[in-house]
Amino acid sequence: MFEKVLIANRGEIALRILRACSEMGIATVAVHSTADEDAMHVRLADESVCIGPPPAAESYLNIPAVISAATITGADAIHPGVGFLAENARFAELTAEHGCVFIGPSPEHIRLMGDKIAAKKTAKELGLPPVPGGDGPVKDEADAKRQARAIGYPVLIKASAGGGGRGMKAAHGENELGAALALAQREAHGAFGDATVYLERFLEHPRHIEVQILGDGHGHVVHFGERDCTPQRRHQKVVEEAPSPALNAAEREHLGRISVEAMAKLGYRSLGTLEFLYQNGEFFFIEMNTRLQVEHPVSEMITGVDLVREQIRLAAGAPLGYAQSDIAFSGHAIECRINAEHPRNFTPAPGKITEYHTPGGMGVRVESGLYSGCRVPPYYDSLIAKLVVHGRTRNEALMRLRRALGEYVIGGIDTTLPLHRDIVAAPAFIDGAIDIHWLERFVAGGG
Ligand code: ADP
Repeated sequence: MFEKVLIANRGEIALRILRACSEMGIATVAVHSTADEDAMHVRLADESVCIGPPPAAESYLNIPAVISAATITGADAIHPGVGFLAENARFAELTAEHGCVFIGPSPEHIRLMGDKIAAKKTAKELGLPPVPGGDGPVKDEADAKRQARAIGYPVLIKASAGGGGRGMKAAHGENELGAALALAQREAHGAFGDATVYLERFLEHPRHIEVQILGDGHGHVVHFGERDCTPQRRHQKVVEEAPSPALNAAEREHLGRISVEAMAKLGYRSLGTLEFLYQNGEFFFIEMNTRLQVEHPVSEMITGVDLVREQIRLAAGAPLGYAQSDIAFSGHAIECRINAEHPRNFTPAPGKITEYHTPGGMGVRVESGLYSGCRVPPYYDSLIAKLVVHGRTRNEALMRLRRALGEYVIGGIDTTLPLHRDIVAAPAFIDGAIDIHWLERFVAGGG
C-alpha cells in the first residue's frame, strides 16, 4: 500500500480524499494556492505545500509545481480528485515518469474518453448505444447543415473537448443553426482551446442516468448501480439520487450489465462513470468520465462501499477481491450540491462564513471543508458543500433531506440552500416525474 499520497485538489473533495487516506493509515500531502492556506484539508493534512498564487492556472493546474511538491515530500502517489488535472492524460503520464502512481486510469483511456467524438465511436463498438448524431467533427456551416438534416431537428451542437456543459447549443431548425454553431465554437475555443464541435439529436425529455463502475485493468469490472442526475441547471447537476426512481428492475439490470461488459472489454482500470440519457425506455450513451465524480457519495450510501478507498487500493495494485454479487444495494440516497451563489440569480457569492451549523442525525452526511470564520475564495468552482442523506425508501430519504436542509445554517454569504429547500418540496420532484429541463423551468417560476 502507499505510504504517502499527495492530494492535487482543494475544497470538499480534497477533504474527502484525505479522510479515505487517514482511515487507510496513509500519510497525506495537501497542495494549495495562497488563497487556500487556511483550508480545512490543508490544516488536517500531515504536510502541505503552497504551489502558487490564487489563479488555478498558476497553482492547481500548474503541473511542474504539483509534481515538484510530490518529489520534495516523497509522496508515492497523487490523487487528482475531481476537475483540475483529473482528466489530463499528460499529467498522468508525467506523474508516472516522476516515479509516482497516478490514482486513476491509464493515460490512453483518459485521452480516448476526453475526446467525446472518439469516445462515442468507441462506446458504440463496445456495445453502448450512443445518442444518434452526425458522422464526425463539423467542418463548416454547410457540413453542419448536411449533418443536421440527416439527424433531424432539433439538434444539439457539442464540444468535442467538452465538460461542465460548456460549448453546448441547441438549434431547433436550420434558421438557428449558423448562429448556434458560431456560439458553440466560440465557447468551446474559449473554455478548452479547441473549437471542434459535433452534432447530436437534441433529446427533448430525457433523464440523466449514469453508472458507477470500478475496474482492475485486467477485465474484472463491477458496478455500484446507477445515479439519477436529472435536476440540472445549464447542463450542470444540482441534485443526484440513487437508485433512479425512473427505472424498473429489468432496465437497471440491463444498464449495469452493458456498462460492465463494455468496461471489461476495454480493460478499464480505476473508477469511472458512464453517462446516459434515458428517454421512452431507451438508454443513449453521452460520455464517460474517467475519474471520481462529485456525486459518488450516493452510490456509497446505498452500497456501504468507500469508493475512494477502493480506487486507492486498486491503484496500489491490490486485487479487486469481490464480485458483482458481493455488492449489496440497500435503500435510497439523495445528494444536494450547495453552491456559494445567490439561490435565484446564481451570482457567485464568495466571502467570509460568519456562522456555520451542520445537520446531523441518522442517515445524514455532510461533505464540506467549511467552518465558522473561513473564507470562500472567489477564484474557484462555487461548490462549497454536499448534503447527502440515506433512507430505507425514497420517501424516507426525502423526509430526512427536508429535515436536514432545515437544520443547515451557512451564514455570511448567499448559498443555494433555499433553492434546495424548494426543490425537495416540489411535487414534480417528489413524484420523480421530471426531465433534464425541469429545473430551469422551476427556477424561472414554472414547473
Ligand atoms: P459535459 O461533458 O459538458 O457535462 P455531457 O455530454 O455530459 O456534457 O452533457 C451534459 C448534460 O447536457 C446532460 O446531462 C444533459 O442534460 C445535456 N445533454 C447532453 N446531450 C444531450 C442531448 N443529445 N440531448 C439533450 N440534452 C443533452
